[in-house]
Amino acid sequence: METVNIAVIGAGIVGLAVAAKISEKKEGVYVFEKNKRFGQETSSHNSGVIHSGIHYPKNSLKAKLCVKGNYMIYEICEKYRIPHKRLGKLTVAIEEEEIDELEQLMKAGKENGVEGLKFLDKEEIKKLEPNVEVERALLSPSTGIVEPDELMSHFYSQLHRNNAVLANETEVTTIRKTDGEYEIGGISVGEKFIVSAKTVINCAGLYSDKVAAMTGLDIDKRDYRLHYCKGDYFRLVGKPPVRMLVYPVPKGPGLGIHLTPDLGGSIRLGPNAYYVNDINYDVESNSKEFREDVERFMPCIRERQIQADSSGIRPKLQGPGEGFRDFVIRHEADNGLFGFIQLVGLESPALTASAAIGELVSEIYENEISQ
Ligand SMILES: Cc1cc2nc3c(=O)[nH]c(=O)nc-3n(C[C@H](O)[C@H](O)[C@H](O)COP(=O)(O)OP(=O)(O)OC[C@H]3O[C@@H](n4cnc5c(N)ncnc54)[C@H](O)[C@@H]3O)c2cc1C
Repeated sequence: METVNIAVIGAGIVGLAVAAKISEKKEGVYVFEKNKRFGQETSSHNSGVIHSGIHYPKNSLKAKLCVKGNYMIYEICEKYRIPHKRLGKLTVAIEEEEIDELEQLMKAGKENGVEGLKFLDKEEIKKLEPNVEVERALLSPSTGIVEPDELMSHFYSQLHRNNAVLANETEVTTIRKTDGEYEIGGISVGEKFIVSAKTVINCAGLYSDKVAAMTGLDIDKRDYRLHYCKGDYFRLVGKPPVRMLVYPVPKGPGLGIHLTPDLGGSIRLGPNAYYVNDINYDVESNSKEFREDVERFMPCIRERQIQADSSGIRPKLQGPGEGFRDFVIRHEADNGLFGFIQLVGLESPALTASAAIGELVSEIYENEISQ
């Protein structure tokens, strides 16, 4: 049986970033990806926003990795000329009582170390975004956008340069702990395969709870079972009404229907957030809901300008109505799985945090696993 040193399961942005970092120092890193190419699932069905870090509780992994990742992604983009724009974001208070919520976001942002946050009044908002009609907004200048596929290509070229291998069309279906190693089985390009790995890193995104269960872990007892929370996007046709990202105060499981310019300046609305049982990327919402939400802060939007675009699915640890859950990023040694690093619930802001997650996983490996 072939032996690899480190097996990374999943080549979304997280698996690629982890493999790129860990292969800087280690030989024998293999990434197994079930699809024909990297990044075909959540990592290519998202908003491409480099978040600032105002939405997550102090000291959570989401807060720490988002703020650090924000800085790292800009640095990578500038160094390797990856298309991106530091556009800045307005979070707007539409109702009077939402001003309190803006203040909470400002407080959380400051606690998390987000720089440059500032409240704006109506006049200041109008100067920046004449079509936005609200009394008060929170400006986060470090929010921006990036082309996710270009960022993934960067991580891929890094791992390739470090002699790590990406095996596409290679689905892992079984993981068995043997004496100090893991026997990984599955199907690779139509053929059964089996390899032995000293270390396994689960970066399987929407399927990471299923991969965790392959080891025999009770995912319900560990609270790792994922809930799929879908978000649809609509595209605005015609002249873009904003230059920056514009978000309402978040409500429910998503961040609220917002306006995100892409790198060409065209605007997407969304994503909304609703729980689903299956993974499919059809747009299931209708444009009326989107227009009604957005016209509360941007009355110039007309329904005929809104066209169905795309969708994505969040791998959430929290089910409908449940409170905040953090990323799970941990070595499972205390669950009898020495050498198995678990990444579950990597919803937003894991794109922003990807490079920082790569560093964290590499540190866990160096400190707890590598002899
Ligand atoms: C609607 C939406 C909007 C978002 N917007 C943003 C944003 O603006 N900014 C931000 O920071 N984050 C955003 N996110 C979150 C971000 O996109 C994800 O957190 C990130 O892409 C997760 O990457 P991943 O590598 O963990 O998962 P994935 O991209 O899903 O990759 C996992 C990979 O594992 C593979 N895989 C699974 N099972 C197996 C197996 N058994 N064998 C082999 N391969 C396997 C899959 O094929 C897949 O390629 C958004 C998410 C959604 C859904």
